[in-house]
Amino acid sequence: MRIAVLGAGVCGLTAGHRLARAGHAVDVYERWPGLGGQAATMDVGDGHRLERYYHHLFTSDTHIAALFAELGMPDALEWRPSSVAFFARGALHPFVTPLDLLRFKPLSPLARVRMGAAALALQRFAADRAPYERITARAWIERRMGRQAWEAVWGPLLRGKFGERADDIAMVWLWSKLRLRRSVKGEDVRQERLGYPRESWEALFAALVRSIEGAGGRVLTDRPAARVERERAGFVVHPAAPGSFRAGHDPRRFAADGAGERYDRVLATLPNDVFEQVLDPALAAEVGEAYLARMRGIEYFAALCLLLEIDRRFSPYYWTNVADRTLPFVGLIEHTNFVEPERYGGRRFLYVANYLPHGHELLGLDAAALLARYDAGLRAVNPAFSPAWVKHAWRFSEPAAQPIVTVGYGDRIPPLRTPVPGLVLANTTQVYPEDRGTNYAVRLGDEAASALLAHVDEI
Ligand SMILES: Cc1cc2nc3c(=O)[nH]c(=O)nc-3n(C[C@H](O)[C@H](O)[C@H](O)COP(=O)(O)OP(=O)(O)OC[C@H]3O[C@@H](n4cnc5c(N)ncnc54)[C@H](O)[C@@H]3O)c2cc1C
Repeated sequence: MRIAVLGAGVCGLTAGHRLARAGHAVDVYERWPGLGGQAATMDVGDGHRLERYYHHLFTSDTHIAALFAELGMPDALEWRPSSVAFFARGALHPFVTPLDLLRFKPLSPLARVRMGAAALALQRFAADRAPYERITARAWIERRMGRQAWEAVWGPLLRGKFGERADDIAMVWLWSKLRLRRSVKGEDVRQERLGYPRESWEALFAALVRSIEGAGGRVLTDRPAARVERERAGFVVHPAAPGSFRAGHDPRRFAADGAGERYDRVLATLPNDVFEQVLDPALAAEVGEAYLARMRGIEYFAALCLLLEIDRRFSPYYWTNVADRTLPFVGLIEHTNFVEPERYGGRRFLYVANYLPHGHELLGLDAAALLARYDAGLRAVNPAFSPAWVKHAWRFSEPAAQPIVTVGYGDRIPPLRTPVPGLVLANTTQVYPEDRGTNYAVRLGDEAASALLAHVDEI
């Protein structure tokens, strides 16, 4: 079977590895001149690689840990202590150990106890997710933990993921987070540990490519799919010219390059809008309005990330949730408070994180303009900060970064198998109710490969 996989992110590479190892001839097409999609890395100089967007794993991320082991790299993942803080009311408040909750000043003592008790009850007794699918996190938190808990803790946490749509997020998303974190045991009770691959995420991508190529497949970077059309029982993928990524994300703007290639099956790991744009009109008609409408019904927020190389430490924490709405960003992730600077020849890196609706004016700024815009906010968190600390600044944005998981989301997810036999879609909108992440991209890649092969068996 000739199979085209569109997208060389974690999902596409995992599915490609499964399909190639199952004996199929796999070609992976990727728009970007590198691997990894949202988890892609870059060379920050001196041969050191760092993700464009901050990345870590939780101890509950078992699918990706199993994939590292399967690829012969069981020791590639390192588990390191994490440190978390909230910036609220002009100060940083540690939120590392359970005791920190009892000392957490932005909440009254009574509110701290109420919040702790409600979280514990949910972790212990709320096995059925259904009730949490029908209510927003805000409504549930305000009812069970109180208004203060929403304003000081959960609102800012959700804003760190969903920006201004935090108020609309379904409780099931938080339910899943709290229940998964329950697996934290032993020494992790005192201080959570997070995972990071010794050689960055790039080592995983390289191992997946080796597996695909070793089984006779191809991974074609800087080679996007411009158009997919039907041909009898199969498909034709029309690739676009190298450098097309400069024209943006919409494949209709890419110039087709050379003859199309014929495939028996196609697995697209593209965001919903790009998937629709890549379909030739006749194929889109075959996919049908009902499926396309489901895809269009899901909203994405964009990620905007400013990565700064700084000449000294910015804060004592790895992860700072910004619970002050007057600041123009939602999180500060000081990577070198998690992985020691010695790994990077003594260099230090800080990510300034944002999630924004499409069209937001901050998305139009370059790195220098963004730093100028963030300067006052950074000084609010650390009054000593000066732009003179910044040695390099890189700016990245990802339009399909975060699907907005509102009430009833589970009923709106497009299934992996489209109505067209042999055409499967697998992307972050189908990760539910867990928080999308590389672990679930691995799980989805496995499921998508199985769905494609089952689809095949039935045809
Ligand atoms: C700011 C941020 C922080 C994150 N932090 C974490 C974290 O700490 N831990 C964690 O586990 N996860 C994290 N994630 C999420 C994680 O990166 C994603 O869930 C995961 O990488 C998604 O993988 P995917 O393969 O499903 O999608 P993508 O990575 O989006 O892959 C889709 C691929 O398709 C390609 N493509 C697009 N158009 C075309 C075309 N026309 N032809 C061919 N290819 C095309 C894209 O370039 C891309 O490579 C974070 C994400 C962001 C944005």
